Amino acid sequence: MWIGWFLRILLIVVGLRALWKFCAGVIEGAQGKRRTVHGSVPLVRDPVCGTYVVRSRAVVLRHGGQIEYFCSKTCQRRFSA
Ligand SMILES: [Zn+2]
Repeated sequence: MWIGWFLRILLIVVGLRALWKFCAGVIEGAQGKRRTVHGSVPLVRDPVCGTYVVRSRAVVLRHGGQIEYFCSKTCQRRFSA
């Protein structure tokens, strides 16, 4: 009879390990996503409407030695006006 119990415990252990690996993968994936947003992708704030824009996609305006980033040409024009 002990083999039956042994197999049941083994099954539970293997099941829990699989579940844990799955959960760890999900958590890691979520953290990885967050790291990409706040770490490697530089975000800049539009001073006109306050929207955060990915720097590579922002409309750039140089004025008085400073660089300003905007979400659109409309905001850039509003800032210049
Ligand atoms: Zn804007």
